[in-house]
Amino acid sequence: MKLTLVQGDITEQPVDAIVNAANSSLLGGGGVDGAIHRKGGPEILAECRALRASRYGGGLPVGEAVATTAGLLPARWVIHTVGPVFSRSEDRSHLLASCYRESLKVADALGAATVAFPAVSTGVYRWPMDDAARISVTTVLRSESNVREARFVLFDSAAYEIFDRVLREFG
Ligand code: ADP
Repeated sequence: MKLTLVQGDITEQPVDAIVNAANSSLLGGGGVDGAIHRKGGPEILAECRALRASRYGGGLPVGEAVATTAGLLPARWVIHTVGPVFSRSEDRSHLLASCYRESLKVADALGAATVAFPAVSTGVYRWPMDDAARISVTTVLRSESNVREARFVLFDSAAYEIFDRVLREFG
């Protein structure tokens, strides 16, 4: 698997699957989630509602992942994953790592060759960018997957530079 970095908006990535930094409700939120539903149209939310009515009545647990259509986005699927809220008193790194591992498993099951990831948990969930970058990059590099390209899409240049440094260090 090749790991690439781009600075930009994840909703504009022409890839097989776009990963959403969702929340447990699957019913939309701010940040990446808001942008995905806004640009992807109502079909994505309709599938999320159906998931809530079936497999995920209690919501999607933190660290897990599930796919829906990508609606109007330039991708075939959205893979929703729920990152942990950052905590100084409790180490939740394994849950953040799980988001990437489980998303790649879902991508494999779908047959997705190219997958775009946001920096899960680094927005509203407040995970420090350098720590999140280290966890995300090392987890993806260590994952066994048929995905050909895992592309991290960083919203601003500060995040891009941090991921770039971490990738040079570990890649
Ligand atoms: P979380 O709730 O998991 O923290 P957020 O969506 O609030 O998720 O933020 C995750 C990261 O995604 C943040 O670094 C934020 O700056 C970034 N981000 C927000 N919108 C976009 C977008 N359209 N494309 C790529 N990254 C985005």
